[in-house]
Amino acid sequence: MKFSELPTPCYVVDEALIERNLKILKSVTDRTGARILLAQKAFSMYTLYPLIGKFLNGATASGLYEARLCAEEMTSPAAAEGRILENHIFSPAYRETDFPEILQYCDTIIFNSWKQVEKFGPRAKAAGKSIGLRINPECSTQEGHAIYDPCAPGSRLGVTKENFGKISDSEPDSSSLLPMLDGLHFHTLCEQNSDDLERTLNAVEEKFGRYLPDMKWINFGGGHHITRADYCIPKLERCIIRMREKYGLTVYLEPGEAVALNAGFLVTTVLEIVHNDMDIAILDTSAACHMPDVLEMPYRPPLQNSGQPGGKAYTYRLGGPTCLAGDIIGDYSFDQPLQEGDRLVFEDMAIYSMVKNNTFNGMPLPAIALRQKDGECRIIKQFCYEDFKGRL
Ligand SMILES: *Cc1c(COP(=O)(O)O)cnc(C)c1O
Repeated sequence: MKFSELPTPCYVVDEALIERNLKILKSVTDRTGARILLAQKAFSMYTLYPLIGKFLNGATASGLYEARLCAEEMTSPAAAEGRILENHIFSPAYRETDFPEILQYCDTIIFNSWKQVEKFGPRAKAAGKSIGLRINPECSTQEGHAIYDPCAPGSRLGVTKENFGKISDSEPDSSSLLPMLDGLHFHTLCEQNSDDLERTLNAVEEKFGRYLPDMKWINFGGGHHITRADYCIPKLERCIIRMREKYGLTVYLEPGEAVALNAGFLVTTVLEIVHNDMDIAILDTSAACHMPDVLEMPYRPPLQNSGQPGGKAYTYRLGGPTCLAGDIIGDYSFDQPLQEGDRLVFEDMAIYSMVKNNTFNGMPLPAIALRQKDGECRIIKQFCYEDFKGRL
């Protein structure tokens, strides 16, 4: 079907735009030997996992379900074709009941504390897994976004330099566990450029450099906006090569956003226009339900054929059909007045959208469609009342 014929609301992911991002990431691998994994939490549209697995080295998971999805849809199908992809996992704390299944799916398991290494490390090593520990370099590089800053004071994410030397108060020495580690992992960036990575890496070396010669790998985490136009790829590559040459390490990157950045849309229909000091359009999509990061980050999603408020002749506040007064996507202007039935296309809606949506107010979930390289659109999934009822 054509883009203009899709039902609304609908997420549309563009295969050619995903492939464009994947080629950029693959070129970093080709030039540096870094291994790049999809962070599934940002984008888990597994229809595209076979394509992603052709360019990347595998995926990483935030828990058992993402690890299983990777095993079912990326690593196992690729292995059947003779390509070995990796399945990594990191969680702040694993559940005892999940761990046997995690061992079944994952080849690399990253822990968040020495206590977790002590609890699960021996089983992971006995099963032949590569294991790592997440460190906290205590180097904040993002201002104003404390909820996205794992280096903020009191962070539960990663072991600080001070705590690296002790397991707990009763067991003050990590030296018995240290030899078990194959790698160190840090994740401190969010939508950032490689100058912030370089600063972070300096802090990592300063605080943890003495442990690096004994490691096999280092994982730089995610938050690298590698596929953004102004991202400095040469500086990223210098960081990778520095770790490789200085310490003999394999470098992993696990971007989520960069894989599907600017590669998806959310198509919506204007349901009604109301006035209260200003013109307000009520859409069949909701910020709260379908693009929660718009309220959480917060940010203003790009909208096709629109301008800043007042920039074009007709300005509207765009809002969702839920009860939440703050279910507002933003103020946008247009060349023509909006009318009931008009379709609007929000951009950059592949990431942190369908993985985070919800059915608050009994809102229907948007359909998921793929725009193929030939321009044809294919609906991958549609949702109904049962998807709302089934979770309650
Ligand atoms: C969120 C996260 C990622 C991916 O981050 P992006 O900002 O989507 O690139 C990678 N690794 C870890 C540990 C994360 O928490």
